Amino acid sequence: MKIRNCLNPSQPCFSFEFFPPKTDAGVASLLRTVEELAPLNPGFVSVTYGAGGSTRDRTVDLVTHIKEHTGIEAMAHLTCVGHTRDDLRDVLRRLAAARIENLLLLRGDPPQGQQSFEPVPGGFRYAEELVRFVREEDFNFCLGGACYPEGHMETASREDDLKHLKAKVDAGMDFVVTQLFFDNAFYFDFVERARRAGINVPIVPGIMPITNYEQVQRFTRMCGATVPMRLALQMERVKDQPDAVVQLGVAHATVQCMELLARGVPGIHFYTLNKSPATRMIVSALRARS
Ligand code: FAD
Repeated sequence: MKIRNCLNPSQPCFSFEFFPPKTDAGVASLLRTVEELAPLNPGFVSVTYGAGGSTRDRTVDLVTHIKEHTGIEAMAHLTCVGHTRDDLRDVLRRLAAARIENLLLLRGDPPQGQQSFEPVPGGFRYAEELVRFVREEDFNFCLGGACYPEGHMETASREDDLKHLKAKVDAGMDFVVTQLFFDNAFYFDFVERARRAGINVPIVPGIMPITNYEQVQRFTRMCGATVPMRLALQMERVKDQPDAVVQLGVAHATVQCMELLARGVPGIHFYTLNKSPATRMIVSALRARS
């Protein structure tokens, strides 16, 4: 199933993102999480592509395993980091042979210790080039990519970022998924600006329920997402009570999702961090209302 066909505001789909664990025990635990989330009938799940080399084969293995054993549509992420065109062609062939139909194409972050992104000789500098390459190679994938309601960390301005996103979409993307955000105003404003700029593909909001305050502070530092002042103050008050942090994180994300759905989003993509409870609570609450 091509994901573009399940992104529909009149019947929005929920999707869950996982990362490839480094150990076999981690993989076993992730597969249990997938089993626990399966009854929620996700439209699809996705597996990220490791920043370093070590977990990359696991992305292909995991999406193949999930699709074969659960029947859930599984999308593989793929980045340009460290790959030549030949490497990428090789990964694409493996994914196509495993009947994976959907890819999220990304540039990736600069490897640790590098200040800015430098492509390897024979590789790509921007996700847009990877999209064009996949389209030219004549694979029949449905293609998604990333977008940034608050602007990408490296961009000089949100206008520039939007211009680059338009070029990336025009190169052949079917949909985009947003970076996590905690204030829906960023998403609604972004969608409006994107539509005005002529970007017409579905823009799927990415939601990460806060389950650990230190972790969310680290993530937001890395990706530039803003935690609204009121939520930050509430988190500060309960930061030493792990259960209260989860309850607040789940409550906040549920309210976010309710507003997003009421205003007609085509789906919601959950950054699960390979854990099921928070996502289960939110999706169960949303399903109970519909
Ligand atoms: P691009 O779209 O190439 O943009 C990167 C920067 O370059 C932006 O600032 C953009 O404005 C600028 N730019 C683009 N085109 C041009 C141009 N022609 N000229 C000048 N500037 C330009 N990382 C992983 O390592 N693995 C994953 O699996 C992964 N999954 C992700 C999933 C989602 C939904 C999101 C939101 C992010 C994910 N990331 C992942 C992180 C992502 O790799 C980083 O955010 C990375 O820094 C940018 O990737 P991109 O594909 O958005 O890059």
